[in-house]
Amino acid sequence: MLLGAHMSIAGGVYNAVLDGEKAGCDVIQIFTKQSNQWKAKTLTDEDISRFLDEQKRTGVKAVCAHTSYLINLGSPDDALYEKSIEAFKIEMERCDALKIPQLVMHPGSHVGSGEEAGLKRIGDAFNRLLDAMPDGKTSICIETTAGQGTNLGYKFEQLAQIIDMVEDKNRMSVCLDTCHIFSAGYPLQDPKEYRATMKEFDNIIGLKRLKVIHFNDSKKPFGSKKDRHEHIGDGELGLEPFRNIMNDRRFNKVPKILETPKSDDLHEDIENLERLRSLVKNHD
Ligand code: MN
Ligand code: MN
Ligand code: ZN
Repeated sequence: MLLGAHMSIAGGVYNAVLDGEKAGCDVIQIFTKQSNQWKAKTLTDEDISRFLDEQKRTGVKAVCAHTSYLINLGSPDDALYEKSIEAFKIEMERCDALKIPQLVMHPGSHVGSGEEAGLKRIGDAFNRLLDAMPDGKTSICIETTAGQGTNLGYKFEQLAQIIDMVEDKNRMSVCLDTCHIFSAGYPLQDPKEYRATMKEFDNIIGLKRLKVIHFNDSKKPFGSKKDRHEHIGDGELGLEPFRNIMNDRRFNKVPKILETPKSDDLHEDIENLERLRSLVKNHD
């Protein structure tokens, strides 16, 4: 089982690994820089080696990073678009330096320019980025979104369309966020509906592209298109969607990451992880 949570890098990237160990995570997600700022402090060799050493010592693996919220690769505004591409490139370089295999990102918002125009901008940006970094190892992992405002990626078809535009498809992957797809209108609770949703994902995107699962319950109801995370089992999803996924053997090797509210002592993460582990049916 690869279960974990998003961890803070305050005080140094290696601290996220230590927090992961404290909460009993197998895997973690981090921001490689402050998520609400454009600028990034340069990673020193010591930052990098300590981060890698702590992963070796603890067995807690940093499987993905999440990009800053300022980046919008779907923006119709040329200045913001170029700035976003530059910032995204730096995040990819940081992931490569830290040997993080997946960089999770929200595809972007079209901000009124229309969905087709927005999707085209995103596809173009990825082609430029991957072209500029032919030796990069990190994959761009596009996340399913709730579809709030003009956010793109709330339909599996939109993610498939983006991947379709990208030439180097080997470096494209997908992150499924349980809160987001539920808010976007994909049912997950009833086992039959769950299977149909995953079948749809497989038919349209392909389950082989699924490299990260975000485990969040939702404060907002089904189909609301709102993105508000809640603790596992305490929200509109309840426990059933998580039971379905935790017992779906196809996803045994897919890292599952919490992005739920938390405090410094991490007790919420510990509780959520306990709840998730208790859902696994014993087969022997
Ligand atoms: Mn996200
Ligand atoms: Mn997410
Ligand atoms: Zn979210």
